[in-house]
Amino acid sequence: MARRRRDLHVGIVGAGIGGVMASIAMAHAGCTVTVLEAASQLGEIGAGIQMVTPNVARLLIKYGVDKAIGKDLVRFDEFNLRRKDGTKVGHTFIKQVEDATGFPWWLVHRHHLHTGLVDVARKRGVNLRINSRVVQLQQQPDGKVFVTTEHKHTYTFDLLVGSDGIQSVVRNTLFPDVKPRPPNGNCAYRAIVPYDEVRKDPLTRELVEDKNGNLVKTMEVWMAPTGYIISYPLSDCKDFNMVLNHFQEKPVDCVEEVSLEEVKDQYKGYDPRIKRAIDMIKPPISRWPLLVTGPLDSWSNAEKNVVLIGDACHSMVNHMAQGAATSMEDGAFLAQCLGAVVDGRLSISDAVAVHEKCRMPKASYKQQLSFLNGWLWLLPDGPAADARDRTMKGELEGRVSMRSANLYGDPTTVLECYEYDAEAHARDGIAAWLNAGRPVRDATSTVERLEAEKIANWFLPEGHKFPIRPRM
Ligand SMILES: Cc1cc2nc3c(=O)[nH]c(=O)nc-3n(C[C@H](O)[C@H](O)[C@H](O)COP(=O)(O)OP(=O)(O)OC[C@H]3O[C@@H](n4cnc5c(N)ncnc54)[C@H](O)[C@@H]3O)c2cc1C
Repeated sequence: MARRRRDLHVGIVGAGIGGVMASIAMAHAGCTVTVLEAASQLGEIGAGIQMVTPNVARLLIKYGVDKAIGKDLVRFDEFNLRRKDGTKVGHTFIKQVEDATGFPWWLVHRHHLHTGLVDVARKRGVNLRINSRVVQLQQQPDGKVFVTTEHKHTYTFDLLVGSDGIQSVVRNTLFPDVKPRPPNGNCAYRAIVPYDEVRKDPLTRELVEDKNGNLVKTMEVWMAPTGYIISYPLSDCKDFNMVLNHFQEKPVDCVEEVSLEEVKDQYKGYDPRIKRAIDMIKPPISRWPLLVTGPLDSWSNAEKNVVLIGDACHSMVNHMAQGAATSMEDGAFLAQCLGAVVDGRLSISDAVAVHEKCRMPKASYKQQLSFLNGWLWLLPDGPAADARDRTMKGELEGRVSMRSANLYGDPTTVLECYEYDAEAHARDGIAAWLNAGRPVRDATSTVERLEAEKIANWFLPEGHKFPIRPRM
């Protein structure tokens, strides 16, 4: 029997990276989408940067955002982990990660990523409205959500998605007691210097060129107990980006302007090459807080027609560079669930329930992984740091270890974090939901669909994938 298609009008609060990605995937899934953004113009401000790891590269490719961004997506060759004096202790060939996951690992300026997303969202018919700060949401007796903006414009939606970042109004309305906090005094400066300048200077040139003067694109980390520095190219190799981790005595909870002298002072004893790159930074320079939200007990209201995604419900420390990536995964996952509402398989509240059931543990995992990576990069000098470095020794000789403290190349992390397919996970979550909560298994072998995807279907060509004949 043909199912009845349902019209679904989704309101998204916040046109950040998570909100715009969600709008694209939801429009693709057949929803009518309106995005309400507080700012007076669309765009990401400041020296924001983004690692597009394979788990989100797959989404950008699917929706054509990679084409919209073009050559500003930078492919790079190697990842090097160093002690603060520059001694190399860990190494990953990025091609090995890309081969294992089947997708590229890109580096991109936040502005270019956001512009590409907005471009695609507009082409897909998303209604993006600026100057639209949401100030109030109310339940309607007919099960819809009524939203008011600061300029007194009103909207009615079937579902409202709170993608309004760390200071989320939607979350504050649902869960007023939740307060994002910095776990300790750890925080970060962000800075970009011209790549040309780095290439011209004889000291810094070593970071971006080989002995024959050819451009080498690498991501570098200098680890120390007092703070690490991570650097990589952006914007078609026109920008050399640095995120400079450090500690303040008191936890930092807002962006603060700092002097270049302060930054130089923080990294006095580091590799002369990265110190020279720091000398090239031009003010204004900002210190960014690393605020953590949750884990929360729920991401939705009792009626399950208002749901949170992204930093609004799971902001995390930046050490795995997965905050925006996780926001984008949320949007893609939720869109698959809403597609099942549009085609009549799920109710809105069931779609939200599937989203929470599957995505909440994943976001908590990313938060944990992020904490752990910071802890590893900031270990005190001594036996623990030495043991960490020993796990990576084989990498320096070109071998991939079965297990490594270099989480950017460690096989477990690569598969759990970078190979993750949010949309396949959603399809599986929906199928299990419709199967009375039981995972869908192959009728003969009883293998679960998710395991088959992980273990066999990643290398099998279409038409030869492990058979899943549902056992109900
Ligand atoms: C130092 C640092 C480095 C980082 N590096 C990386 C990295 O390399 N890779 C990565 O994946 N992540 C990184 N992150 C994390 C990343 O920046 C965030 O996780 C990501 O931007 C969250 O996206 P979002 O769309 O959920 O929220 P946001 O980007 O915060 O977007 C929220 C949007 O909602 C709007 N808004 C707010 N309130 C309202 C309202 N009431 N009404 C309407 N609109 C509203 C805002 O104007 C904004 O446009 C880093 C973070 C820090 C601090």
